[in-house]
Amino acid sequence: MPEALRDLVHPLVPASTTRRIRELFSDSGSGFAARRDLTREQTTRLVHEQLRTINAEFGPGSDLLAEPSRLYALFTWAGLADPALVFVMLVHYCLAQASVVELGGSTERIRELDELTSFGSFLITEPRRGSSHIATRTQATYDAARDGFVLTTPSPVAAKLANAALPGVPKLGVVLARLKIAGRDCGVFAFVVPLRDERGLKPGVEIQPLPGMPMFAADSCLVNFDHVRVPRADWLADGATIEACADGTTFHDPCADLDARLVRTIASGPYCWSAISTALSAAARGCVTIALRYASQRTTMGRTTPRLPALAHRNQHRPLLGALAEAYAITFLANESALAYTSKRTGQESLDDAAAPWSSINASSALTKALVSRGLENVAERCRRSTGALGLMTANRILDYQMLGHAFHAAGGDNQLILLDTARTLAEPPPPAEFEGGLEQGSVLDPAFHQALAEVREHRAHQQAAENPNYDTSLELANAHGAALTLAAGMRAASRSADTRLVTDLCLLHTLETTHACAGWLLANKLLTPAQALEIPEALNTLCERLLPDVNTLIDAFDIPGSLLGSPRLGST
Ligand SMILES: Cc1cc2nc3c(=O)[nH]c(=O)nc-3n(C[C@H](O)[C@H](O)[C@H](O)COP(=O)(O)OP(=O)(O)OC[C@H]3O[C@@H](n4cnc5c(N)ncnc54)[C@H](O)[C@@H]3O)c2cc1C
Repeated sequence: MPEALRDLVHPLVPASTTRRIRELFSDSGSGFAARRDLTREQTTRLVHEQLRTINAEFGPGSDLLAEPSRLYALFTWAGLADPALVFVMLVHYCLAQASVVELGGSTERIRELDELTSFGSFLITEPRRGSSHIATRTQATYDAARDGFVLTTPSPVAAKLANAALPGVPKLGVVLARLKIAGRDCGVFAFVVPLRDERGLKPGVEIQPLPGMPMFAADSCLVNFDHVRVPRADWLADGATIEACADGTTFHDPCADLDARLVRTIASGPYCWSAISTALSAAARGCVTIALRYASQRTTMGRTTPRLPALAHRNQHRPLLGALAEAYAITFLANESALAYTSKRTGQESLDDAAAPWSSINASSALTKALVSRGLENVAERCRRSTGALGLMTANRILDYQMLGHAFHAAGGDNQLILLDTARTLAEPPPPAEFEGGLEQGSVLDPAFHQALAEVREHRAHQQAAENPNYDTSLELANAHGAALTLAAGMRAASRSADTRLVTDLCLLHTLETTHACAGWLLANKLLTPAQALEIPEALNTLCERLLPDVNTLIDAFDIPGSLLGSPRLGST
């Protein structure tokens, strides 16, 4: 049974490949163990070397992009090894290289990234203005005389955010810029631009290093372009053409309009969101492993019940088993999203054509990223608060993982904007007319009750968002949809599991906590009775009691080497 549960947690690649990846990350010679003795710059250099190690063993990048399940499985382990590694891998493989491969980059550039002669950078955000992604100001002006482009930052507020501040580390940028031909706006395209090599910055590239973020190392900077020449071969034209004609040049783009071009240019988004979701759900598993092992081993000295392990107390059950259930819930959700993208790559990929940038690319994987990063923030916070002083110490990784959740609230597209965009997409078709009544029947410990409640909650939220679209009704709709997706992914995992009862109880615990949190809205909408609302706390206790004997089994299924979690108290597993 533990093996079956482990396969349920790690379904992306065959068990033999999972074992090989785990071996690489836990091998003391490979350099992935948690380090606290390095400066930020040394850590940033180390994660670039770690990327070389991963690429040598499991790459190159173009093969990983052709088989995304293997790429996502690697992100699972990167999420446990170091948040900084997640960013470097994400930018290199899922943003820079995916753009070059998907949008028609040259074989030389693909080889450069495959062989890591240069690491990839991706420059989309112009962070001095909010939601800059739909109003790119960096310009690429077509120069007909030289049949190339001139890249410029028209004003300091258009400077791009990038990871390219580390001296001596060659970076190849994929820069999103507005193509101008004879003064005409032809839309936002990607251009491949060497930013720096071993000797320093390339001509016309100016950078301003940024102080970065606490708790993880990154070579963040702002980048300005001062008339940087880009040859035609480095325009990621993606089917668009510029041709000479009698009276100048003609431009043709197969995309229908400028919005469709923008959506297409950031087509690597789904690679990115599935990778983030698998990495962050792994980090959530790391948090609960640290906190639950600690709570099981730590003796408490209360006067009435001395020498009980911390986890024997109810005030530890509820936050920690709730965190365990949420870690499982976002794991199932992230895995489904990654597997769905994997299968889409082999068949029916299509881009929606709505105007909003994130949800228009792939609404479900963007939403999954938002739900999983919020889930990691919740899980990490509960684990940190339940772990006393150790929860704040860098000897273990809880704060690192929490920071990863915080960072991805913004990175990869702001979560709040993703939720609001998702709601806009969901509210467009009118809600079906059924489900008028409330749910008067049902036990809050019955999975069928929660499946029906999730459906009716989303339906009511849909009606309200359609009748009165505003901030509150939109967020309620996106959250109701997210809760329904999460429950459905969990119940599908339970039905595949060798121990359906155990996995169903985990799903129920997470769902019941979600219901508890929105009980006011459900009561006001007559979808929950006062009696049902009052039953919830006792039902949560019942589920915790049922899950407690299996805590070690549930954590062992994560299969995380102690060397990655970094707590001296835990030793190696
Ligand atoms: C660790 C890290 C690394 C990053 N690395 C890179 C990188 O390598 N390359 C890169 O290009 N980018 C990078 N980013 C930037 C990232 O993509 C952006 O942070 C993200 O897309 C959000 O954009 P923003 O920070 O400008 O936030 P904003 O767009 O300013 O959004 C912040 C908040 O403002 C409000 N808001 C903004 N616009 C609107 C609107 N139109 N309507 C309503 N509300 C609005 C919302 O409440 C939103 O939650 C990185 C970010 C982080 C955190």
